[in-house]
Amino acid sequence: MANQPTILVIGGGLAGLSASHTALDHGARVVLLDKKPNLGGNSVKASSGINGANTEAQKKHGISDSVQLFYNDTETSAGTLSRPNLIQALTANSAGALTWLTTQFKIDLSLVSRLGGHSVPRTHRGTGGAPGWAMTSALIKKLQEVESSQFNRVRVRQGAKVIRLLEDGSGKIVGAEYENEEGRYEERADAVIIATGGYAADFSDHGYLSKYRPDLFAFPTASGDHATGDGLLLATSLQKPAALLDIEKIQVHPTGFVDPKSPMAKTKFLAAEALRGAGAILINGSGERFVNELERRDVVSGKMHEVIKAGEAPIRLILNEESSAALKTHCDFYLAKGLMKRYDSGEEFAIEAKLPLENLRNTFGSHTMYGEGKATDPLGKTYFDNSWYSVEKPVLVAEITPVLHYTMGGISVDSSARVLDSQGVPISGLYAAGEVIGGVHVRNRLGGSSLLEAVVFGRIAGETAASL
Ligand SMILES: Cc1cc2nc3c(=O)[nH]c(=O)nc-3n(C[C@H](O)[C@H](O)[C@H](O)COP(=O)(O)OP(=O)(O)OC[C@H]3O[C@@H](n4cnc5c(N)ncnc54)[C@H](O)[C@@H]3O)c2cc1C
Repeated sequence: MANQPTILVIGGGLAGLSASHTALDHGARVVLLDKKPNLGGNSVKASSGINGANTEAQKKHGISDSVQLFYNDTETSAGTLSRPNLIQALTANSAGALTWLTTQFKIDLSLVSRLGGHSVPRTHRGTGGAPGWAMTSALIKKLQEVESSQFNRVRVRQGAKVIRLLEDGSGKIVGAEYENEEGRYEERADAVIIATGGYAADFSDHGYLSKYRPDLFAFPTASGDHATGDGLLLATSLQKPAALLDIEKIQVHPTGFVDPKSPMAKTKFLAAEALRGAGAILINGSGERFVNELERRDVVSGKMHEVIKAGEAPIRLILNEESSAALKTHCDFYLAKGLMKRYDSGEEFAIEAKLPLENLRNTFGSHTMYGEGKATDPLGKTYFDNSWYSVEKPVLVAEITPVLHYTMGGISVDSSARVLDSQGVPISGLYAAGEVIGGVHVRNRLGGSSLLEAVVFGRIAGETAASL
């Protein structure tokens, strides 16, 4: 490879940004193309946080964690088809990824919460706004600084949609063709990193959702409209196509907000899983809990479907004062958007929602007892934060529904982020990172592990591509 190789990064979400910075750190030049007018992708929306095992923040909070424990939780969540090399890459590099973010970009990740399927609290966020915004804005700012201060090191092109990868006679990837408002252009490079995100908004007639999961086609999504699986198409349209893994595996997130102003909207805001981590409970239309709120996402979504099918909707998410205070910035935002409503008491809510007050009183009373250890939750919840609920006290309430959220399927890579063909052979010059890759989470992705996947595999891709 050239002395100062040029790395072409497709996609400016957290994976593409992490890859770009790492490639720069390893001496490369970077060209970053993104089809949208603004960088950030779905990464900017992420609201719960990023996972890390054995981090400085965990140690400060007295949380005992290990790479092995994180590995085990991820493997259990992934199910029988789990791929050890990818899980090992994700979990073993997690603490390093967080240190990179906090030291190199001064991102605050000092708070740690526990999301569904994790044995211990390990999802990190800061005290300010949404963690996805905090991370992407810091990485974008620094990239722009390098672009303006160091001649020819970085070129960022927004509104530039990549439509084809360029191959030489041997099948090596040597660049990409993109289009923008002015026309079509070729961009040559020594290596290409695909970081185009997932396909949870691919509602085209012959797209990935309609082809692989027609049963989910009618669902709303929490993804931005860029998430149409472009990277998958680019990588599978080669002379020797990339292999795809787990393409039918799509995560349905339990808590999309039903906006009272537009209840049928196809794109929905996501109610962060951190709300449940901080003590929020879920109730059916009769005011009864029906699931351990801290179960894995696939389990919670599955139980919600049973409730909906049984005609026991609407499903609501409820927070007491303590749990809403723990996520004040989030809740202030949801309240301002009209997605959540505050009631002076649970009783006031029960009257407005026309649900039996006695049921709500029982639900709140028993949840409080489980939290105090005076009884065992028959639904299996064992970790309690802010568990004290009373119908006499204020509550925040939102109606929620399952939404398409994250696509587990994607391009097959090895633990060096090299794209593999159907024989498992690396395609020369081609790397991939972030949600566009498949095989890491298989059956179910743990909350907080996608931002981590973007940073870990983005950094691996940036380093491998720049160093070879
Ligand atoms: C509402 C919401 C909340 C979430 N919260 C969390 C959370 O708290 N924790 C967590 O771990 N995960 C969370 N996730 C998931 C996580 O945010 C994403 O999976 C992750 O950010 C994906 O990062 P990425 O860089 O791979 O893709 P993205 O951030 O989606 O970026 C992909 C980029 O590629 C560009 N692109 C696409 N196609 C092309 C093309 N043809 N040419 C050029 N550019 C292209 C897009 O415009 C986009 O900018 C959340 C997701 C959503 C939707």
